[in-house]
Amino acid sequence: MGEKESKLGYKKKLAWELFSKEQIKKALSFAEDYKKFLNSVKTEREAVQYIATTARKAHKKIIINKEKAAAVLVPGTKPISQGMHIVIAHIDSPRLDLKQIPLYEDTDSHLALFETHYYGGIKKFHWVVIPLALHGVIIKKNGEKLSFAVGEKVSDPIFSVPDLLPHLSQETQDSKKMSEAIKGESLDIIVGSQPATGDFKEKIKTAILDTLHKEYGLIEEDFISAELEAVPAFPARDLGFDRSLVAGYGQDDRVSSYTTLKAICEITKPAYTSLALFVDKEEIGSEGNTAAQVATFLRTLIKTLDPKVDVDAVMLKSQVISADVNSAVTPNYTDVFELKNASSLGSGIAMSKFTGHGGKYAANDASAEYVAEIRQMLNQAKIPWQTGELGKVDTGGGGTVAKYFSRLGMEVIDLGAPVLSMHSPYEVTSKVDIYSSYLAYKTFFEKK
Ligand code: MN
Ligand code: MN
Repeated sequence: MGEKESKLGYKKKLAWELFSKEQIKKALSFAEDYKKFLNSVKTEREAVQYIATTARKAHKKIIINKEKAAAVLVPGTKPISQGMHIVIAHIDSPRLDLKQIPLYEDTDSHLALFETHYYGGIKKFHWVVIPLALHGVIIKKNGEKLSFAVGEKVSDPIFSVPDLLPHLSQETQDSKKMSEAIKGESLDIIVGSQPATGDFKEKIKTAILDTLHKEYGLIEEDFISAELEAVPAFPARDLGFDRSLVAGYGQDDRVSSYTTLKAICEITKPAYTSLALFVDKEEIGSEGNTAAQVATFLRTLIKTLDPKVDVDAVMLKSQVISADVNSAVTPNYTDVFELKNASSLGSGIAMSKFTGHGGKYAANDASAEYVAEIRQMLNQAKIPWQTGELGKVDTGGGGTVAKYFSRLGMEVIDLGAPVLSMHSPYEVTSKVDIYSSYLAYKTFFEKK
């Protein structure tokens, strides 16, 4: 058996080996600011605020849609009728949302808790017994809007979902299927335990209501007009002795949103009008007025650039990168991946020609011509890239926002960093993949 490999074969390479020493240094320092971003932005609303501040500082045009979606725009030297170069990333992540009437006292355990309904695809056992912070907005009875973030500072209290001790969980949990061992309805968060003084029916709940009123001026009914999200309270950290990886919450898809934002803010005079779109509700199917399916937002935006232009013609000529993460090959679970086509940490940005599941259902399937254009672009700019596929053919699959834009007649391809432990409270990315993403999006905006 020979040792040599054909020079004609395709071989995936590590970005660590493709990048120069200087580029690796840049990639490592790029990740420092990225971690700060992950720590200060944990909801879609916080992402929009960060995007707006950053874009304005860079003197870029920003359009905001209902505080939960945004667009950053840089006009091209060519007329808009020639089409645009668009990068879309989503800014929502899986979490536990509070119900509308969340607060109750459990008289058996003598605890006050908040009811939740999980948002997006989670493995429920990931979300018990971890420190949680509460972020969001509450619109009070008088219309006043309160922005809320408790649990991030070390001096803040945190919140947590309790779980059963192993001594007693045999029948209730251990003998069950993993997906059934913890029920959605039991993902309630502990918020207090000290009773109020006085002759109250529910002393602990009463005390919490008193505290909420004293500190924030809230009454119980205010929670009905609120959007409060329980998110992991731990900060993003370097992972590994070599500090090559980043562990942190919400990297699907804030790794793409951050790198897209960095890229668009550094563009000055692109040939084509560059547009960075940051959308909400991807994790629940892109439904809703701040999600990627709202084509009216894009139509209105194009009209503001040139009221006389034929919007549909612009869309037909536009090129899009759907900037979303891909599944990284996971040690000990490699069986679910077809390893030749799957993406892995440290080999650069992952390109998926198609998404969807079994038989390419509900897929965006980019044309060979468009794939060729993107492949050439990445190769010419020497940006590390690899292919990506969400699991073996009949094993699973998944979609991104890509299909909603290909539906408008645009050329669309998925291009994003691979993520390990995706949709868990502590997702992992590689610093060279993060940097490759930033380079790829920037090169795309600048493409002639
Ligand atoms: Mn995603
Ligand atoms: Mn996701």
